[in-house]
Amino acid sequence: MDSSLDMVVVGAGPAGQMAAIAAAERHLRVIVVEQMPRPSLKLIASGGGRANLTRTAGRADFEAAFGRQGRFIGPALGGLGPEALRAFLAHLGVPTRADEQGRVYPASQRARDVAEALGRHQRGLGVQLLLGRRVAALDVRDGTLGGVVVDNGESLAAPCVVLACGGRSWPSLGGTGGGYDLARQAGHTVTALTPALVPLVAREPWVASLAGVSLADARVRIALSGQPKAGVRGDVLFTHRGLSGPAVLDLSGDVAQRLARGRDVPLEIEPIAGMDRRRWDVEILAWRSGQGRRQVGTLLQQRLPRSLADALCELAGVRPQTVAAELPAGGRDALAALLGGLALNVAGTEGFEKAFVTRGGVKLKEVAPDTLESRVLGGLYIVGELLDLDGPTGGYNLQWAFASGHAAGRAAGGRQPV
Ligand SMILES: Cc1cc2nc3c(=O)[nH]c(=O)nc-3n(C[C@H](O)[C@H](O)[C@H](O)COP(=O)(O)OP(=O)(O)OC[C@H]3O[C@@H](n4cnc5c(N)ncnc54)[C@H](O)[C@@H]3O)c2cc1C
Repeated sequence: MDSSLDMVVVGAGPAGQMAAIAAAERHLRVIVVEQMPRPSLKLIASGGGRANLTRTAGRADFEAAFGRQGRFIGPALGGLGPEALRAFLAHLGVPTRADEQGRVYPASQRARDVAEALGRHQRGLGVQLLLGRRVAALDVRDGTLGGVVVDNGESLAAPCVVLACGGRSWPSLGGTGGGYDLARQAGHTVTALTPALVPLVAREPWVASLAGVSLADARVRIALSGQPKAGVRGDVLFTHRGLSGPAVLDLSGDVAQRLARGRDVPLEIEPIAGMDRRRWDVEILAWRSGQGRRQVGTLLQQRLPRSLADALCELAGVRPQTVAAELPAGGRDALAALLGGLALNVAGTEGFEKAFVTRGGVKLKEVAPDTLESRVLGGLYIVGELLDLDGPTGGYNLQWAFASGHAAGRAAGGRQPV
């Protein structure tokens, strides 16, 4: 192993690989240490193996999507935004395509192609890769960063270290959460960690009967005062234990934070977004006059998947065979109420094992947003998911990983005497 290093990158995910590339392009001697037997495992699994790498959105959209932490991501995105990332990948031989919703994937639809291209480019730049080795500690003496200590006791000396360890989600893909301990060792604060972009577990047993049912354009909201009435609009999927699908995943981080306070979280689902209780009232009344001889179950099936129509009838105490003209006012009210806001109680999440990202992490105030350098320990850079921010589904998180890694590598390259 080459002993004269300028930079050690801990973690060969998208953030770490991009940091290594940006630094090596500026002639730094870089080693990437990865605890798993292969690099980029999460990237390769992302987007169902297709990797939703970024999206065709402007900086304002990205900042809004990251919520309160949005302003922090701005400078790094300014350095490597979606267009620059796509151009870079095309230059590496991986052209990308956007779908009609603006989500960007490799044109080959293979996440693996991105991982392999990054690996090739790194090798070409002379970046060393140490696989199957975990960084156990930072080497800090008298307040000065001197490198890292690997789990076999070996020290790697370098004035710059990039922590690109990702979060706690999907341990089988490297999400072991070890990066938080390294950040704490440097003196950083780590905020409370909860799973995000994670399927939810419902208290109500009837949900299991709907497993596999998906709603193409529903609305989900947390039914508590102070929560946005608009909730999140998008696809919802019923699972054996509860709910998933993009709209639910996007809300799940907020739900998980509330669950951490020890109480169930009430949700309301509008199975057809925009069809609130009042509109269903009007529609069901119209059935009476226009389609009075047809069965309520059949009429509902024109708008909803059959098993959901049946479940709603049962919950409303209405026989699906009831003809619309004979639907009593009580049944009509009960149905309209359920259709306009199906209430569910969330008892838990599927946990870090099934979470696409981790909410919480290294406190943003302790890191400079333009360079990603620690304000606590000079020469230390903290990038990607390890930081206290997370975006919704749709390519936001990978874009952040690439952009933050790039900013750190570039900054480290700028501070080194070459
Ligand atoms: C199944 C799945 C699908 C996803 N799909 C998408 C998607 O389509 N689009 C999107 O934008 N986001 C997606 N995400 C989220 C996205 O993959 C992550 O946000 C992103 O990978 C974070 O990048 P990172 O480089 O910060 O961390 P990671 O990709 O997690 O990489 C961190 C690496 O560090 C290594 N490591 C950790 N600690 C140490 C240590 N002490 N020593 C050595 N190595 C260490 C880990 O093994 C890991 O390889 C998905 C996530 C999952 C789990």
